Amino acid sequence: MAELTWYNKTSSRKLRSKPVKLSKKDIFAVTEHAPDIICRFDRECRLLYVNPAIELATGIPTHAFINKTTRELGMPEEHSANWEDKISFVVSTGEQTTLEFPFLTPANGLRFFHTVLVPEFTSDGVVDTILTVSRDITEKKELDKKKEETVSIVSHELKTPVTSLKLTTQVLKKKFDREGNDNITRQLEIMDKQIDKLTNIIGNLMDTTRIEKGSIGLKNEKFNFNDLIKEIVDDVQKTAKSHKIFIKGESRKAAIGDKFRIGQVITNLLTNAIRYSPGGEKIIVTISSDKDSITCGVQDFGIGIAKDQQKRIFERFYRVKDIDQAFYMGLGLGLYISSEIVKQHKGKIWVKSKPNVGSTFFFTLPVK
Ligand code: ADP
Repeated sequence: MAELTWYNKTSSRKLRSKPVKLSKKDIFAVTEHAPDIICRFDRECRLLYVNPAIELATGIPTHAFINKTTRELGMPEEHSANWEDKISFVVSTGEQTTLEFPFLTPANGLRFFHTVLVPEFTSDGVVDTILTVSRDITEKKELDKKKEETVSIVSHELKTPVTSLKLTTQVLKKKFDREGNDNITRQLEIMDKQIDKLTNIIGNLMDTTRIEKGSIGLKNEKFNFNDLIKEIVDDVQKTAKSHKIFIKGESRKAAIGDKFRIGQVITNLLTNAIRYSPGGEKIIVTISSDKDSITCGVQDFGIGIAKDQQKRIFERFYRVKDIDQAFYMGLGLGLYISSEIVKQHKGKIWVKSKPNVGSTFFFTLPVK
C-alpha cells in the first residue's frame, strides 16, 4: 500500500488525520487514465514505462516508446541533450527539476510539453529511476503569444495619440500661462502629469515586448555613475515633495553599459521607494564600488515586502497580493524590466525587506 497524506496548500495543515491509502491497483488506474503523460526513465534516459496518454497526444502507440532512449525516439539533438542533462541532474543531486520541449507528433503536429522530473530512490538512497509527468502546453503557449502580440499592437497604437496630446497640452499651457490664466494653467498641469503616467505605462508595455522579442538593444558606453545618480535624483526630487532623497557614497569606477537604460532602473527603484512608503520621509541611495563592480542601493522606510513574495516581484506582471491594490496602483512591470536590464548588463538585482520596516533594492554593474 502506498500512503498519501493531503495537506491544505496555504495553512500546510493535514486535511485528514488518517493518510489516504492507495493500492498498486489504484495507482495503476490513476496513471492509466491520467490526461498527463507519465513516464519512468532509467538513468540512461531509456523509457521503462509510459501511460496511454502518450498515444493520445502523439498518435504513436505506447509500445513504440518502451525501451527507447529519447535519441532513439528521433528527438532532435538539442532536445535529446537537454533531456540527458536533466536526467543526469536528477540522478546526481536527487532533486526534482523541470523541462520544456517541443515534439513533432504524427497526429497533432508540433506540440510543446512542460515536464516535471522526480527522482525515485532505492532503499540505499540511490536514484535508480526517474518519474516524469508531461503536460501539453501548446494552447497556453499560443495564448501567451497572442496576448503578447495584443500588448505590442495596443501599446504602439496608443503611443502616437498620447504624444500628440502631450504636445497640445504643453502648447496650451504656455498660451494660458502667457495670458495669466492661472486656473486653466493648473488644470493643464494636472492633465500633463496624467499624460506622463500614461506615457510611462505605454513605455513599460513596449519595453516588455522588446525584452520578450530579445530586441531591447543596449548601448555599451563608458559613463560617470555618480553623475547619473545625481541627475536622476534631482529629476525625481522635483516631482516628489513628500520625501527627501539622500545620496551616500560614490563609485570610483566609471560604469560601462547603456546609460539611458541604467537610468531607467534607478528611476524605477526611486519612484517605487516613494510610492511604497507613503508615510516615510526619506529615501537613501547608496553607491559603492570595488575592482569588479559598482553596487547601488535604494532604501525606503515603507510598507516592505513579505519574505515569500520577495523572489516573485521580479516576475512579469507580478504584484504583491496582500497590499491595497486600489491604493498602490501599477502593472507589475517596472521591476521585471529593471531586472532584465541589469541581467543583460551581467549585473545582479535583489531586495532586502521587512514588512512595515522598509525595503532596500540593490543592483550591481560589472565595470569591465
Ligand atoms: P508596480 O509597482 O507597477 O506594481 P513593480 O514591478 O515596480 O510594479 O513592482 C512589483 C511589486 O513589487 C509591486 O506591485 C509592489 O507590491 C512590490 N514593490 C516594489 N517596490 C517596492 C518597495 N519599494 N516597497 C514595497 N513593495 C514594493
